[in-house]
Amino acid sequence: MSLQIFSERPVSEEDPLDLMDEIEALKKEKDASILAHFYVDGEIQDIADFTGDSLKLARDATKVTTSTIVFAGVHFMGESAKIMNPEKRVLIPDMLAGCSLADSCPPDQLAAFQDQLRAQGRDFQTVAYINTSAAVKSLVDWIVTSGNAREIIDRVPADKEILFVPDQHLGRYLIEVTGRKMILWPGSCMVHEVFSIQDLIRIKKRTPGCVIMAHPECPQNILELTDVVGGTEKMRQHVMSVEKPTTFLVATEAAMIHPLQKAAPQHTYIPVPGITASTGETCACNRCPHMSRNTLQKVRDCLKNGGPEIEWKDYFQKARAVLDKSLLK
Ligand code: SF4
Repeated sequence: MSLQIFSERPVSEEDPLDLMDEIEALKKEKDASILAHFYVDGEIQDIADFTGDSLKLARDATKVTTSTIVFAGVHFMGESAKIMNPEKRVLIPDMLAGCSLADSCPPDQLAAFQDQLRAQGRDFQTVAYINTSAAVKSLVDWIVTSGNAREIIDRVPADKEILFVPDQHLGRYLIEVTGRKMILWPGSCMVHEVFSIQDLIRIKKRTPGCVIMAHPECPQNILELTDVVGGTEKMRQHVMSVEKPTTFLVATEAAMIHPLQKAAPQHTYIPVPGITASTGETCACNRCPHMSRNTLQKVRDCLKNGGPEIEWKDYFQKARAVLDKSLLK
């Protein structure tokens, strides 16, 4: 099916194919590799050397052999790439590409809350979702992604309480699947919060035999209706494992449709909230405004100008030890 997504971004006058050629040439000239998250535009994913979810990209960043990494994603991802590769230059196409979820857990507030818990005599470890700033990562014991959360939570000693930050929905889901008690930080992602349960029920009713896939950052009422709960890489693996052409309703950032279509083109994918008009047009409230700041022009410009660059900070060292034991060991 054809899918059109409305965007408020200015339309570039530059030909995307010319830009892609220019980027390929600049990559060689500047000795650079591009890492692109599944949530950035498909055309950026197509020129990337590595694509994936946060877990895969954090691991891929350690395999890069070029001296420069361009991270097409959001700021905390660029920070993680720098933390794992202090000797490399890490560029991001737009310094303003942040993350509402990471912003919902400021490091000073987390430190104050941890102090408060310690003062109450609580014996806990802090587990942070990877969608946090490097300053927060330096304050925690473990980092998880939606791809490895269960496995890491199993590594937290059974006699410890768990303070889980910042995503309350992912935390609630993890309580359900691991059976561990957790203190949840009240953060959430602006994209995964907007899915409408009414829309989902309406689309499900008019799409017999469809399968609902949702990211665990979605609220509980969405997950209760979901057939496959998982991060982006799990979604990709799942659609590849199904041979029979199937209609999938996908509750995550809408750019995820691109890698799903590439991986398993036999299926039909409908982003949730779904089709609103007979033309096949859908609203754009399931696009992350931060991920959408990445454009081919900005990728080209940051390669050309050598910036914006993620600079090393002292607290990256502490964050590095936590990322290292959580994602690489
Ligand atoms: S989709 Fe949500 S969690 Fe992901 S970068 Fe955007 S705001 Fe952050």
